[in-house]
Amino acid sequence: MTIIASLLRSAELPDSPTARLDAELLLAAALGKPRSFLHTWPERIVSTEAAQAFAGFLERRRTGEPVAYILGQQGFWKLDLEVAPHTLIPRPETEMLVEAALELIPGFAAVRVLDLGTGSGAIALALANEKRNWTVTAVDRVPEAVELAERNRQRLHLDNARVLQSHWFEALAGERFDLILSNPPYIAASDPHLSQGDVRFEPSSALVSGADGLDDLRVIIAGALEHLEPGGWLMLEHGYDQGAAVRELLVQHGYQRVQTRRDLGEHERISFGCLPC
Ligand code: GLN
Repeated sequence: MTIIASLLRSAELPDSPTARLDAELLLAAALGKPRSFLHTWPERIVSTEAAQAFAGFLERRRTGEPVAYILGQQGFWKLDLEVAPHTLIPRPETEMLVEAALELIPGFAAVRVLDLGTGSGAIALALANEKRNWTVTAVDRVPEAVELAERNRQRLHLDNARVLQSHWFEALAGERFDLILSNPPYIAASDPHLSQGDVRFEPSSALVSGADGLDDLRVIIAGALEHLEPGGWLMLEHGYDQGAAVRELLVQHGYQRVQTRRDLGEHERISFGCLPC
């Protein structure tokens, strides 16, 4: 069968909102080629071996498994990251945290950064890659996430980053940072979205945070007071309906210049504030 005919098998993914793209990514992976190869050589015959691999990938996608887990990788910012089912698949919204951090913090300064709940290492490694003079610490509570983030760090040769196992600030006694970021779990335990779509395959430890989804955000906002330098920033991703609650928590704890930014879907998505200088 040709490449172009193989791609018609996207019809086997009726539940995916991105069926054609999924099929292209999976076929390219089965062929071991970049996606552009499919468009350059649509009439090429797909080998039996590649066709079998593609059929296996399609079947996994048909049952709902996210493409990123099937491929074992996901693009984030300018990096290709290895991903695995122990961690969240990095999302485009989270790139807003990276963007806001680069905007707020002068690049020439030797900044100490902490990424809490790093998962695949997405936020920490994007910043370490962007600013080689920044020193970035990434922590996660889950050992498999620590191993994964460390593999990503090593593969990308980011010597200005380190990855540690720590439940939030636990392993960081006495350490202070100029910038603390986190995309923590922020979904309410009863949220019906947890049983729909790709998130069904992601670990609940990376998604769910108590009855109102704010448990971890509360711990981080309070805990960061002891780990930020004077004038240091705390930047948080949160749910589309949590902006007001997060701003209120930040103000209550004495953070200043508290503000929120909206994502491309116009939802309030990240909030931040700084400690007084
Ligand atoms: N920091 C990681 C990311 O943004 C993991 C976040 C999480 O597991 N909640 O992708």
